[in-house]
Amino acid sequence: MKQNVPEIFGSLVFDDRVMRARLSDKIYHSLRKTIDENADLEEDIADAVASEMRDWAVENGATHFTHWFQPLTGVTAEKHDSFITPSPDGGVIMEFSGKELIKGEPDASSFPSGGLRATFEARGYTAWDPTSYAFIKDHTLCIPTAFCSYAGDALDKKTPLLRSMQALNIQAKRILKLFGKDVKNVRTSVGPEQEYFLIDKDVFEKRPDLVYTGRTLFGAMPPKGQELDDHYFGVIKPRVTAFMEELNEELWKLGILAKTEHNEVAPAQHELAPIYSTTNVATDNNQLTMEIMQKVARRHGMVCLLHEKPFAGVNGSGKHNNWSMATDAGTNLLAPGDTPHENAQFLLFLCAVIQAVDDYQDLLRLSVATAGNDHRLGANEAPPAIISVFLGDELTAILEAIKNDAPYEGREKVVMKLGVDSLPKFSRDATDRNRTSPFAFTGNKFEFRSLGSSNSIACCNIMLNAAVAESLKQYADRLEKASDFESALHDLIKETITAHERILFNGNGYGEEWVEEATKVRGLSNLKTTADAMPHLLDKKNMDMLMAHKVFTETELHSRCEIMLENYCKTVNIEGHTMVDMVRKNYLPAIEGYLYSLAKATHLMKSVSSRVKCNYEISTMERLSELTDDILSCVEDLEGALADLKKYDSVIRTSEAVRDDVLPKMEALRKHVDEAEMLTSEECWPFPSYGKLLFSVY
Ligand code: ADP
Ligand code: MG
Repeated sequence: MKQNVPEIFGSLVFDDRVMRARLSDKIYHSLRKTIDENADLEEDIADAVASEMRDWAVENGATHFTHWFQPLTGVTAEKHDSFITPSPDGGVIMEFSGKELIKGEPDASSFPSGGLRATFEARGYTAWDPTSYAFIKDHTLCIPTAFCSYAGDALDKKTPLLRSMQALNIQAKRILKLFGKDVKNVRTSVGPEQEYFLIDKDVFEKRPDLVYTGRTLFGAMPPKGQELDDHYFGVIKPRVTAFMEELNEELWKLGILAKTEHNEVAPAQHELAPIYSTTNVATDNNQLTMEIMQKVARRHGMVCLLHEKPFAGVNGSGKHNNWSMATDAGTNLLAPGDTPHENAQFLLFLCAVIQAVDDYQDLLRLSVATAGNDHRLGANEAPPAIISVFLGDELTAILEAIKNDAPYEGREKVVMKLGVDSLPKFSRDATDRNRTSPFAFTGNKFEFRSLGSSNSIACCNIMLNAAVAESLKQYADRLEKASDFESALHDLIKETITAHERILFNGNGYGEEWVEEATKVRGLSNLKTTADAMPHLLDKKNMDMLMAHKVFTETELHSRCEIMLENYCKTVNIEGHTMVDMVRKNYLPAIEGYLYSLAKATHLMKSVSSRVKCNYEISTMERLSELTDDILSCVEDLEGALADLKKYDSVIRTSEAVRDDVLPKMEALRKHVDEAEMLTSEECWPFPSYGKLLFSVY
């Protein structure tokens, strides 16, 4: 190792170590209070912090600062300002005030707002989130911020995420109080596992579909894909190793706990997992990780693809959101405890999650809905679009026993009566793995596996936190009124299991039978596409819940639904136009060129000898010529469907046309082009093949 890891770790972060070392005791403690307990920050404190931050940043090579935020585009945004201020002697000094630290005023008019903010009122503001540390990137001090309109409506993903964490905090503390525990706060933690592809930059640049849309819109299957399973956990290639080393170093400098790396199932596919942290920090870190992956890949002559489905026929990329709740004292509320009393508490929090997932399946589903992720969910590589919960055999048996007041056939046979001494100790069942479940309990956390690789993890955690807060609120309302806590608790857990057992499923989520059972027998929702899922954001039950917990306002919800659907339509629209472009400018002329050479060859050969049959030339010509006619009519159809999109006056209607009209026409066009690829000489083919793309990195 070139570097001393503990020494470089966090070296570009204004973290607790730096604060403690550089700030006076008074300033440090007051800032800590703001970070830990949401206390207001006095102006003089902000000035003092800003001044130290600037000195530290300048010492570490920074010349600029920026409020770093997460607008609804899904990527991060920054506008750099230098620290310089003219001094009377004609030179400059480096300045940075408390006001500049706390609040910024970027022009908001070019960010999506879903009609939230009329363009004449284009001002928005960014507000410092002191719970996520400032850091230096590209000689710029980056201050994590929330982004709002002047009227106070959230225009970003961080604001509702922080609100959802607060909602859960409030309700979880009420529950803990009932168990006799007074904690300062309960926070949710997340460890996101990130999948990605690496391909050679030169090959990438020859594919306009990859350049414009991040995925291949055409491409016949190569002779070898992932069928040998020789890539998963395989030996990492030298170029990839060099990339991973540099990536780790960059991430560590930014205080990101990059931990695990390995090859994934598809050729050229890899994964990186950090150690978990508080949800908003994990979210900021994941956004940074995705950005830095792309930058570092370029330095190594490669491109990092974060698209959910860059290649048809091999696995796409997802992100696993490992989620739990913990107290400030570090107690994981989803870890089975050592005593019956602790286990009763564990079961209650477990029930809260089960109920949340059942009651708000649609919100969880739509929180991961994008045009890109639609290609994965429901395909046999990723969890289905149906949301269900996997608990494993032991926990399921325990819940079953509680439900039926029956003996639990565990290591000791005991009747499950909660809150009394007979509750058995659970073992942490780590062997029982079900990779097909979208929402799996893995011993002391839940793993939500439906996220797409490019999704911001903020979206699903907002919904998850809010939905769990709602279950906890209902429980607290009921238990606070109970005269006999233990029996009320027992009844509550029993009722919850009975009411929500339909969401529990330990079987194979990829099977056709499951779709049948889930939708027909259990009544679970199966929202296959973004166009199906997203409008449910505005269902009354969902709006009521999100508004009751102050996670979103009504206008914010309307604007978000609009933006997400717009995003879906725009993404597919760009893909459609890219296909038209490639077909008209490249594929058709290329096939035509090959046909010409075949025709010329046939003609020549026949003129030399009347006995040559030219079977190969003639049959290929005949099939290719049919295909060019098919391609032409498909491309005309697609052009028509794309043109039609302009005539719908609501985004919901447009998204339905995208789903029902545009996407199937893209599919049909691709099929013919891919067939033509198999019949055309590689020399005439205008773009690198799947084989070249997938096996381009050594
Ligand atoms: P698994 O083998 O079950 O996938 P790992 O130990 O590899 O488990 O962890 C996967 C991810 O889950 C890592 O990012 C890890 O930090 C995270 N994780 C572990 N414990 C928790 C927790 N209590 N809350 C949130 N994430 C967690
Ligand atoms: Mg995992």
